[in-house]
Formats: sequence, structure tokens, C-alpha cells
Amino acid sequence: MPDFSYPDVLIVGAGLAGVGMGVGLRRAGIENFVVLEKADAVGGAWRVNTYPGCACDVMSMMYSYSFAPHDGWSKLYADQPEILDYTRRVVKDFALGAHIRFDSEVVSYEFDDAIDRWWVRTRGGDLYCPRVVVLCHGALHRPHIPEFPGRDRFSGPIVHTAEWDPSIDVTGKRVAVIGTGASAVQVIPAVAEAAERVAVFQRTPHWVLPKMNRAIGDRERRLLSTVPGLRALYRTIAFWTHEIPVAGFLHPRLLRVLRWAALRTLRRQVPDPALRAKLIPDYTIGCKRILLTSDYYPALSRPDVDLVTAGIAEFEPRGVRTVDGVLHEADVIVLATGFDTDNRCAGEHIVGRDGLTIERAWRDGMQAYLGMSVSGFPNLFLVMGPNSGGGAQSILFVIEAQIRYIARCLGLMRRGGATRIEVRPEIQQEFNHWLHAKLSRSVWNSGGCDSWFLDHTGKNRQCWPGTGTSYWWATRTPKSRSFELTRESPLRATEIQ
Ligand code: NAP
Repeated sequence: MPDFSYPDVLIVGAGLAGVGMGVGLRRAGIENFVVLEKADAVGGAWRVNTYPGCACDVMSMMYSYSFAPHDGWSKLYADQPEILDYTRRVVKDFALGAHIRFDSEVVSYEFDDAIDRWWVRTRGGDLYCPRVVVLCHGALHRPHIPEFPGRDRFSGPIVHTAEWDPSIDVTGKRVAVIGTGASAVQVIPAVAEAAERVAVFQRTPHWVLPKMNRAIGDRERRLLSTVPGLRALYRTIAFWTHEIPVAGFLHPRLLRVLRWAALRTLRRQVPDPALRAKLIPDYTIGCKRILLTSDYYPALSRPDVDLVTAGIAEFEPRGVRTVDGVLHEADVIVLATGFDTDNRCAGEHIVGRDGLTIERAWRDGMQAYLGMSVSGFPNLFLVMGPNSGGGAQSILFVIEAQIRYIARCLGLMRRGGATRIEVRPEIQQEFNHWLHAKLSRSVWNSGGCDSWFLDHTGKNRQCWPGTGTSYWWATRTPKSRSFELTRESPLRATEIQ
């Protein structure tokens, strides 16, 4: 029986990333690993995001792992419960249950130079001493709650989409939804179906393209699981559907066709010219993540839904007052205001080599090598770390590339007899120099908008400056020259040639 107090690998988070990492370790023959999950169940983002209408805007055939294919999707784009179910299925199919420790929130990570291991403490007082730590706690996990004046004075419930309270019933209520991003465009149509009236507070319009969703019937599902190559064909189509737009994001002149399609969608779905005018963004399409939805514009066109574009002045007991002096009465306020993304590890006590904290290492902004390794933090990997996502490709494709890469890094250590792996600082620096030069020409940086891809200084800390394919290529094999691989010895670490 493996000793989970001294695991080879400790994974933090049992969302799709952590679960996938666990599978990756098993496939690499590593059994002595433990997954620490702060909650009492698996699922991560798909466990907590339970707001009405929550779904995925990436096709299910790509929003799943190639090593854990699933023929049971009921739609081309799945809803939240099906993705949560898929996560549980992966845990069961790959027998990961015995490796997961629930109610185990990590409160500190400290690297021990003397033994080349981490000391990881949980809130409950458990102590682990893994050789390697893999952080799979997600990129979008800290809800952004703006400091609206008078927030405490509102008499009804205020709920963030990522902290949905299932006891909130919006039936027959007046609901104020703040924000018009990816979460908002899903929650608004669902809430509008039940509420008496909905006020949508838009600060910036987002570009919208239709979501070509449809049901996958029993017969099609049967064919998918029996006809050789059919599932692979679906996945290939889904892959290129998400991959092709990235070329435009990197060469914004190519985005004219997407802009044309978005304006056509707007014209077709919003008959009222005054409403249409409020919904046309003034920045290049793709600068903020494009919203895929076919029911958002129709929801805004309902007589019982108002689009409010005046800025929010304050919350009052009876609702939201805008800067033009109007009070928008509400019984419930939904914050679809996104996430704090400047620092993936903000507030986490992560102390690497020579007492270096992650806060200090990232004081000028997050950076890593290939989104996974950070100089000064040996034997630590991030999944979905800085500048590894953000494009249109499925994040699961990116995560799968990272799982393979990390497993291969562990292989490098094993083959060389190393007890420590750390990215060389000059390699990380050179990589980030290249990355930010390439990003400067992308639509995310130059499209004239503000988005969660940019940190408070305006630097893009989220996006990989290329296609999913190019990330896959860059991460297919770790190069040993990128790392210092050393072996712990009684006197000092010995460099491995
Ligand atoms: P978001 O895209 O960052 O949108 C936040 C919205 O809140 C924006 O409209 C923003 O306005 C508004 N907002 C923020 N602070 C505000 C303030 N103080 N006053 C007024 N408005 C304010 O967040 P999100 O919708 O949660 O989505 C974040 C990311 O999560 C997405 O880009 C996507 O990657 C992921 N996501 C994915 C799916 C999926 O289907 N796969 C679904 C949901 C979310 P501005 O635009 O003016 O900043």
C-alpha cells in the first residue's frame, strides 16, 4: 500500500484538471500519489457553478479527455450537470477514489531544501511530505465581487454566479443581473424564463456568435459507440471548430469575417434598433472572449427584460441605483462579474527554495515556463498556470498536454535519479520575453478592450500566444536542458548530467 503521507506526487484540487492529472500519473505507472480536495466532492468549477443555465461553450467532444472518451453526451454542447457527471465517471473508470482526500484544504506549502520534498499542511492539521506538488486548483476560482457602495444595505439576497445558492428561487421575482460576460449570457435567459422582470446591467457589450447546439439522440449515440472512427471524426470537427478562430486572434485582420457574422447575428436576433445600438462593441472582436449563445439576444428582446447601460452608482435596500438617478427595483441581485485572475496563487502560503514566496516571485505579475514551472519553486507544477490558456481551444486539450508534459518531467527525474527539478531562470526569462513579444500583436492585447486576460498593469497573463496545436507541440517533450535536475546528497545537491 503506498504511503500517502510521503507521496511521490501530491495533486491539489479534484476538478477536471486534478482528476485528469491523477489518470496521467496512473498511466505513467505512478501509484503513490494523493489528491487533496478542499470540498467534499469532485468537480471543481463544474461543482460550484450551478447557476441556472450553466453550460459549456466548448463542444463536449473536445470538452473531454482523449484518454477518457464519452459517447453519452446528450447535446453537442453539454450542460453543467453532464460535465460534473463526466468528472465523476472519470474518477470511477480510473479508480481514483482511493487517492482522493476530501475536506482537505491546503493552507501552506514549504519546500525543504535538505530533503528535496515539500511540506504541505491542510486546514484540518494533516501534514504531507510529497516529492512533487501539482497545483490543479483552477484559473477561475476566486469570484470577483465588486465593492459597490451600499452593498450591505440591499434587503434581498446577493449571489455570485460561481457561488450559486440553490435555495434562491427567482420565480416571480425582480432580478438584477450585473455583468454581460460568459456566465451572464447563460444565466440571463434561464432567469428571464422564471422571473417577473430582469434588469441586465451592461458595462461593456460583448461580441456574440450563435451557439450551434443540438441534441444527440439515442440512435446517434449508438452509432458513436459502434461505428469505428465516428467518434474520432466528431472530435476532429470539434477540434478545428475551436482551433481555426485562434488564427484570427493572432492576426486580427482575419477577424473581419467573425465581425460580419456577429453583426449579422445581432441584426437577426434583435429587431429593435435602439437595443441593437447598445449591443455593438467598440473594440475588435476576439479581444474579450467571444460569447457563444443563441438565447441571450432573444432574452434581451423580451418585454420583461431591460438592458441598463447607465453605470451603477450604488445598491439601496430596494434595488440598484444608476448614475442617471434611476432606481431599478430588485428582489435578488445576481453578480455575473467574473473572477479575480491577476494571481492564481494569491493569498496562498507557497514558499519555494531559499525562502522565496510565490507572492514575491510574482510581485511584478505572474509568470511561468510553458505555464507550468516557476523558477525558485522546485518540484512544483501548475496546471492551467500563467499564459497557457485563453484562446478558443478547449481548456481540456491544454490540460491534457500539461498532464503529459508533467508526467514526462517526472520520467526525466526518474531516469536521471534526480530528486529535484527546477526550471532554469534564464530559460523562463527568455520564454516570457518571446511570449509577450508575440502576444503584443494579438487581438487580446491590441483589440482595444479591457478583459480578464490582462492584469491590472495591462499585461496579458493568461493567453498562450498561439493555437492549441502549437501549445501541444511546445509541450510534447520536456527538454532536460531547460531544467536543473539535481540529486539530494548528504552534503549538497549533485547536478545530474
Ligand atoms: P467575465 O467574462 O469576466 O465577465 C464579467 C462581467 O462582469 C463583464 O461583463 C464585466 O464588465 C462585468 N463587471 C465586472 N465588474 C463590474 C463592475 N464593477 N461593474 C459593472 N460590471 C462589472 O466573467 P464570466 O462571465 O464569469 O466569465 C469568465 C470566464 O469564465 C470566461 O471568459 C470563460 O473563460 C469562463 N466561462 C466559461 C464558460 C463556458 O461555457 N465554458 C461559462 C462561463 C464562464 P466589463 O466587460 O465591462 O469588464
